Amino acid sequence: MRSRPQIVIVGSANTDMVVKAPRIPGPGETVIGGDFLMAAGGKGANQAVAAARLGARVTLVARLGTDMFGDQAIAGYQHEGIDTTYIVRDADHPSGIALISVDAQGENSIAVASGANAHLTPLDVDRASQAIGEAHVLLVQLEVPLDAVRRAVTIAHDMGVRVILNPAPAREIAPPLLAQVSIVTPNEHEVKVVVGEPDQAHAIRRILDAGVETVLVTLGAQGVLWATRETQILVRAFPVEAIDTTAAGDAFNGGLAYALGRGLSMAEAIRYANAVAAISVTRLGAQPSLPTGAEVAAFLAYRGQGSG
Ligand code: ADP
Repeated sequence: MRSRPQIVIVGSANTDMVVKAPRIPGPGETVIGGDFLMAAGGKGANQAVAAARLGARVTLVARLGTDMFGDQAIAGYQHEGIDTTYIVRDADHPSGIALISVDAQGENSIAVASGANAHLTPLDVDRASQAIGEAHVLLVQLEVPLDAVRRAVTIAHDMGVRVILNPAPAREIAPPLLAQVSIVTPNEHEVKVVVGEPDQAHAIRRILDAGVETVLVTLGAQGVLWATRETQILVRAFPVEAIDTTAAGDAFNGGLAYALGRGLSMAEAIRYANAVAAISVTRLGAQPSLPTGAEVAAFLAYRGQGSG
């Protein structure tokens, strides 16, 4: 078992501005909120911080502006021990920003200005090809241009590196790209969009038929549907009191990449990722809510066989 897996993440880096309010404002409505939190976010960076905090050696490939949000983000990643060598500073586009409202039940609504994230290129990814080739896991999402994602997946696939695709935000993915991916981790909405198929069971089947080994459909508080060509198993979530589900999927994916990178079995890795995500939903914010490896170990020891 590896203690410190090497993980490369190609994805987005944002700054989140979070307001916790009694409810999410509708069109034209102003809701007077409670707590405000500004923190580093973006699916790529969140997943990078999740994996790094658990103990992985993480390289993040991303694009940030040359503004103060970019400076703060890089300083934050370095504080987490993330390798920032392949983060490009883009003088022509601002750093990505996400405006997030969280309601009293922990549900959220998010508007994102992608900025520099929308300009991540295949060339940016090529610069990191050696790091990708040396990684135990490549983890990608869809918050950066598909060309850049495709390049990263192809490099990893050609070098025999296991690829996890978190298809968020949802968009349709062509079967040849899916064929180069080992594990796809959509939520209930994303699983249908990935293959443009409104029925969940059919959608899962289509993804598997494209050549993906494992589909993990995250089901929020219900847990995860673990699907392969042979079986489908519901792995239950850990029961916790949810405060803010903003980074639940990111926590899950970072935890999954770390656990698989360490050499855990798929069953163990799902349980581990469920624990990482369960802890994260009990806290406010994206990156601030992500637990350390020690916290997850303590949680799992306390919860015993609670999940699965
Ligand atoms: P996303 O945030 O991407 O929509 P989900 O809401 O499906 O993803 O959540 C991802 C994972 O986070 C779930 O599979 C589960 O492990 C965990 N999770 C989410 N919400 C809760 C909750 N209320 N209680 C416990 N675990 C949760």
